[in-house]
Amino acid sequence: MLPQEFIRVKRDGEKHTRDSMEEFFSQYLNGNVADYQISAWLMAAFLKGLDDEETFWLTEQIVNSGEKLDLSDIDGIKVDKHSSGGVGDKVSLAIVPLLASTGLVVSKMSGRGLGHTGGTIDKLESIPGLRTEFSTEEFKALLRRAGLAIVSQSESLAPLDKKLYSLRDVTATVESLPLIASSIMSKKIAVGSDLVSLDVKLGNGAFITSLEDAKELCRIMMSLAEQFGRKVEIHVTDMNEPLGCSVGNSLEVIEALEFLKGKVENRFATLVKELYKDTVNSTGVEAPDVDQLIASGKPLEKFAQMIEAQSGDPKVVEDYSLLPMAKSVHELRAQQSGYLTFVDTKEVGMAVVELGGGRKKKEDNIDHGVGIKFLVEGGSKVDAGDIVALVYFNNENTLNSALKRLEHAFTITETEPQERPLIWWSSYQ
Ligand code: URA
Repeated sequence: MLPQEFIRVKRDGEKHTRDSMEEFFSQYLNGNVADYQISAWLMAAFLKGLDDEETFWLTEQIVNSGEKLDLSDIDGIKVDKHSSGGVGDKVSLAIVPLLASTGLVVSKMSGRGLGHTGGTIDKLESIPGLRTEFSTEEFKALLRRAGLAIVSQSESLAPLDKKLYSLRDVTATVESLPLIASSIMSKKIAVGSDLVSLDVKLGNGAFITSLEDAKELCRIMMSLAEQFGRKVEIHVTDMNEPLGCSVGNSLEVIEALEFLKGKVENRFATLVKELYKDTVNSTGVEAPDVDQLIASGKPLEKFAQMIEAQSGDPKVVEDYSLLPMAKSVHELRAQQSGYLTFVDTKEVGMAVVELGGGRKKKEDNIDHGVGIKFLVEGGSKVDAGDIVALVYFNNENTLNSALKRLEHAFTITETEPQERPLIWWSSYQ
């Protein structure tokens, strides 16, 4: 079938066959279908949708485009965790050591931040010396040695997703539920964990902004997991305000470490504890009490072990001055009295990108020391003149761009904003 014929089928809202999908994508990987033809198909798929069978066939193509990681020769229950991406979302940094300290093996491959969402790999790379690029054999050795690892997504797993994702990113076709589901699930299926814990972010700081869409995404991902014989548990969690107080790489590492020392009580801490409980319980093991576990010091020790195994300096766990930190701090004050209300959380993420803490283009270098620390959570009452946030910056021009972004991110309202759930939906309900 000619590529233009395949594209026409979707353009006209018709259904593909499994064979035609296999041919189209294998021809793409062989260099016989051009990026502009894939882009045209992505837009057709975005507009006309893919049904469950087509989504399964696409996922199959992505999984089969690369290597599959067999973890069966590693003892223990292997757990993977994935977030669909948000602002200040440092859950993985906290939950991976927490889960590992119960004896689970936590095998996490992560991405870098692109656009307004931060990436776990960028956050971890704030730690001096820490490596995130490992071969699959080295990744397995890390799991055997420390019981946990957070590494960059291997180039050899699901390589078709990488190509499709970079085209989606520049053709306004990211926010398609079947495309998101196949992209996330193919990478999880290619890694042979026993359980995948998925955190779908919902709100004005996420890709998904309606509960209906979030639930549909969960339905598609659960159906894919079932068809591939994988176990998943999913939560839809709130992203209508930054998660926790910090946004920015080093700052988020510090907040995660403070959490592991039992010193953080905010929406981030509550969410990590809830996800921890459900994830451990899903493996068939009763979850040890999270506060006692944290008080035992084991999760913090696990984090230090992971840092050391990945060639980083474990002293950062106690000495935050080893982390890169911006030279200057700007105090952002409330212009009036009222309630802090986030209206466009994506702009907080983009403010950090403006400061240099994220990428505008894939090849950009990032500044790990910049970011924003909120001193109050959304919905809190503030008085005119109170410091709402500290902006960590290294350059006046980038500070000004960030402050412009922040003007759109939140307002101070006279009336208290409506309370929102932290967990909107979960596969347990
Ligand atoms: N995360 C992914 O891995 N893929 C998507 O399409 C969206 C979020």
